[in-house]
Amino acid sequence: MTNWCDTHIHLDAPELNGQGLDLLPAAQKCGINKFVVPGVLVSSWDGMVALAENAESVYLAPGLHPAYADQWTPEAEQLLQYMTASQKVVAIGEIGLDGSVKSSMQQQEVVLRAQLQIALDARLPVLLHARQATGQLLAILRELEIGKKIGGSWHGFSGSLQVAQELAELGFKIGVGPILLRANARKLPDAVKALPTSALVLETDLPYMAEKPEIILKVAEKVAELRHCSLAETARFTTENANKLFGFQDRSIYGK
Ligand SMILES: [Zn+2]
Repeated sequence: MTNWCDTHIHLDAPELNGQGLDLLPAAQKCGINKFVVPGVLVSSWDGMVALAENAESVYLAPGLHPAYADQWTPEAEQLLQYMTASQKVVAIGEIGLDGSVKSSMQQQEVVLRAQLQIALDARLPVLLHARQATGQLLAILRELEIGKKIGGSWHGFSGSLQVAQELAELGFKIGVGPILLRANARKLPDAVKALPTSALVLETDLPYMAEKPEIILKVAEKVAELRHCSLAETARFTTENANKLFGFQDRSIYGK
């Protein structure tokens, strides 16, 4: 039996009307048995905790999405710090910079730096979100040596091979998702072909990029095809990378 990890899945998204966990039995039949749920709003963190309490396979990456940077308060900062003590919290996310939203870049950067500091203090990796701000985000990650110190995954990657290689060298994983299945995808296939095995993890970004968790198998088939390896081999290295990044094993000894 192959095992898969979905490193970025919004099981608590309002679009799923509280039914996110209902998607898991079918996914688990396909061997998808680890799910990392990223935070979006401060007000979503409670619901995430409830999800993780009700499903052994669900892990959390709480954080504030850059689009909602104006929600950041001293109370939110304290709460996020507090959450890092939970054995179900395996990362901080999704955090980053987004040039396409209304919250100002200055505010986004303040919120990003505060969350990176929380991740550094807790020795947790980060789930990164970047849109129209790749260079700026890269500069901050370099400055704070985030790749070397805690690592992370660059979610929904669709940039150039050069940026992908730079991220891999800095110690980050590339989150490969349904963008790879687009007929017009050009840059991402090149990165998937050329990157070292150790740099790739899989994600669905459900419900925004996929309706069912099983789409991850379609993404994996494409990865296997591009890299001329078997599906089993793709499961092995992507799952191993996710396990190493998030340390599920280490943390599960405290769980049930
Ligand atoms: Zn997302």
